[in-house]
Amino acid sequence: MNPTATRFAPSPTGHLHLGNVRTAFFNWLLARRNGGRFVLRSEDTDAERSRDDYLEALMEDLAWLGLDWDEGPDCGGDHAPYRQVQRGDVYAAYFDKLSTERHAYPCFCSPRQLAVSRKVQLSAGRPPRYAGTCRDLAESEVASRLASGETATLRFRVERGREIRFDDLVRGPQSFASDDIGDFVIRRADGSAAFFFSNALDDSLMEISDVLRGEDHITNTPRQIMLLQCLGLRAPRYGHLSLLVGDDGAPLSKRHGASSLRELREQGFLPAAILNHLLRLGHALIEEHWYEPDAMAQAFEIGRLGRAPARFDLDQLDHWQREAIHHAGADTLAVWGGLDDLAVVPSAQRAAFLEAVRPNLSRPGDLADWAERVFGALPEPEDDASTAINAAGADFFAAAADAFATGAHSLKELARAVSERTGARGKSLYMPLRAALTGRLSGPELGPLLELMPAPAIEARLRRHAGPGDE
Ligand code: GLU
Repeated sequence: MNPTATRFAPSPTGHLHLGNVRTAFFNWLLARRNGGRFVLRSEDTDAERSRDDYLEALMEDLAWLGLDWDEGPDCGGDHAPYRQVQRGDVYAAYFDKLSTERHAYPCFCSPRQLAVSRKVQLSAGRPPRYAGTCRDLAESEVASRLASGETATLRFRVERGREIRFDDLVRGPQSFASDDIGDFVIRRADGSAAFFFSNALDDSLMEISDVLRGEDHITNTPRQIMLLQCLGLRAPRYGHLSLLVGDDGAPLSKRHGASSLRELREQGFLPAAILNHLLRLGHALIEEHWYEPDAMAQAFEIGRLGRAPARFDLDQLDHWQREAIHHAGADTLAVWGGLDDLAVVPSAQRAAFLEAVRPNLSRPGDLADWAERVFGALPEPEDDASTAINAAGADFFAAAADAFATGAHSLKELARAVSERTGARGKSLYMPLRAALTGRLSGPELGPLLELMPAPAIEARLRRHAGPGDE
């Protein structure tokens, strides 16, 4: 039996798009679920667009998210090298084989000629494909043109009149007619390997069993299957994942709030939150609840991948962010929120403060905000808080400040004393207190906050609204 091996094969031409992150994640889940290998391969044969710093950044991003790989550019492995730019010698041998067996031929058509041919076909209402200009050139002509220094690409000769079938892991049985597929370039004029070739060859040589990739690749698959068949190599099983779209159904882009993993990371989302959202994008869970990342592989089922476009939704992500914060260890949360750098929080109270505000955190900056509200200088009350303070009136706060000054230090004692003196109850008792003490109408439970706040600050915050007093 062929053990599971999956891969993520990004082209390092930019920061990781969330669609690619989901692809990486699903391949990782499949490998981990089956105890197999997960390979990271850099598809960097396009020298103009690929950059080393993007490769570094994407490895860093994947590691941050918690997706680890067993073989890859940094750690090596049995099928090294894992950067396609370093695999030129491997490719050369297979180009020779295809050329010798007449499965591939040099093509001298210039980009201009090809563009004209495309235009002509399109205006005749036909799908554009290579017209076959160089498919049957005489060997002598090929030899003399090459000898005279003309540059050529290498094209794969697609066999005519064939049907190519495969069983897509997500979309079921697929069938393509080879007559609809033009001969395609497998080596560029500069000698570098083209995507169709290096991608399929490496999957086979790296013994990849299953390829999950974006549905935009589905029409590439019959080409790659034909290529591997000609080389006598085994093709992986392919599964094409539905497109990732924004909440309005359009392809995911920056205007949906974020489109790359970097952006989400910079906005302060936790890895576990992102993974919980991605796990549900185009994948229907059997049991719907929060998943710890190390339990996700067991919940992943190829048979539950869907064909409908998957919607990335920041509100959903926010929901999982709150769950992630709820489930995070105190150390993780402290690092995330930069607790140690918040000088205003006394060290003895750090742990209690973190737990008191945990339910109200959503972004790392929220921790600093609450630290300032509890231990530092209180910002001006927000508008609705101000309204509540004014509605309660000066007598209310005079009563509160006096009660606190005479020992009513817990929220219970304070509330009881104020209620007795002013008759306020329920919301009109607690809201003004919260507004005056925190500057907001919503937030963490007031009782624990009161225990953390320095007593002089509490009294001053209450007194501030108690009017001029009767001197
Ligand atoms: N380098 C290709 C891409 O980034 C890989 C496609 C595939 O997964 O086969 O789209």
